[in-house]
Amino acid sequence: MSGRSEALPRPVVAPDVALAGRLFEELRRRTSASRGVSRASYGLGEQIAHDIIRREAERLGLDMAADPAANLHVVLPGRLEGPEIVIGSHIDSVPMGGNFDGAAGVLLGLSVLAGFVGAGVAPPCPVRLMVIRAEESAWFGASYIGSRAAFGKLSAAELDEVRRMGDGVTLGAAVAAAGGDPQALAAGTAVLDPASIRLFLEPHIEQGPVLLERGVPAGIVTGIRGSFRYRQARCLGAYAHSGATPRGDRQDAVLAVARLAVEVDEVWARREAEGEDLTVTVGQIATDPDEASFSKIAGDVRFSLDVRSAEPATLAAVREEIDAIVARIETRDRVRFELGRLTASEPARMSPAVVSALGAAARAAGVAHIEMPCGAGHDAAVFAREGVPTGMVFIRNAHGSHNPDEHMELSDFAEAARLVTALLQDPPPPR
Ligand SMILES: [Zn+2]
Repeated sequence: MSGRSEALPRPVVAPDVALAGRLFEELRRRTSASRGVSRASYGLGEQIAHDIIRREAERLGLDMAADPAANLHVVLPGRLEGPEIVIGSHIDSVPMGGNFDGAAGVLLGLSVLAGFVGAGVAPPCPVRLMVIRAEESAWFGASYIGSRAAFGKLSAAELDEVRRMGDGVTLGAAVAAAGGDPQALAAGTAVLDPASIRLFLEPHIEQGPVLLERGVPAGIVTGIRGSFRYRQARCLGAYAHSGATPRGDRQDAVLAVARLAVEVDEVWARREAEGEDLTVTVGQIATDPDEASFSKIAGDVRFSLDVRSAEPATLAAVREEIDAIVARIETRDRVRFELGRLTASEPARMSPAVVSALGAAARAAGVAHIEMPCGAGHDAAVFAREGVPTGMVFIRNAHGSHNPDEHMELSDFAEAARLVTALLQDPPPPR
């Protein structure tokens, strides 16, 4: 059944943006920290947020249930049964974070569901709002805990060994304290079956400046960048006197790392000019505070290197280029690099069918938008890797994210909510 081609006009369903506005304020008030908000994964702030959503879902008369990971599932029945659309995001935050990262996606889902309830209209297929636990790795040092758990992919070792920053509570104990069932999780119990999900959609604030610069309220994400990182890389040269050591005798680790930073930046510039998706960042760089001095050539520099791309082939090629650059600098500057342990994540492709359905919904609703890659990790990547057709909608946001200055206009949120409402009224056919 296609809503667009029918003679009957589509019923008017408007998301309840005022409800979302009130709940953003309540969330800010009740989870504020010395700076910004703090909603610890499986902690007090996250629980307050879950209780607010639970209260509002109850008021709307929607069925809900918590799963063994204490994720909250709120269900709006459709006109027909069958594979459902899942809208989800997290509602924890980093310590002293912003009010919108995560919460915007959850409240967008709730405002859209409230719109259907308020209009007395059922969407074509069931819609599930999933309030996902513990997405931020800041607390447990592990990512996507709630969404991985929903697919039965949390390991028993993680539950026993991973501990929360600050209070040292194990993940298993924290899950139990939130009303979850760590034994069921350790046994690999899944509550979501990828085959029974029509599509997964994660609305989220944009964490960079692209939508602001382009002057549009909404972005349709084409893919989530994967990455490889050398978090604890090191360059070893030789300490020597700054005045007494001739140019040709130096083994300057600072200079070598500086050369590396410039050369990988040139790799980025060249590949970007050729149309490839890539970011390269040296985010940390330090000499040994005890041994280095203004009057010494540095013999030991620690640094990090973070490379991201939406394309696996680009990541592989850049890794090879970095190895070649390192070898060249080692010979030239007579230093030795120890890049250390490599951590990596695969890029996650958004479903072309979902991307094009979102584009059609945006045009139907008259929402200005662009297509763009996503540079940060999200629960959506877990769904995509499970084979669920997945999409993300970005909402324009100033000052980045993970900080108290995140700034999303409610009018932009409303545009994204209208886009999602239009998609639910005319979803792409099931797989
Ligand atoms: Zn987030």
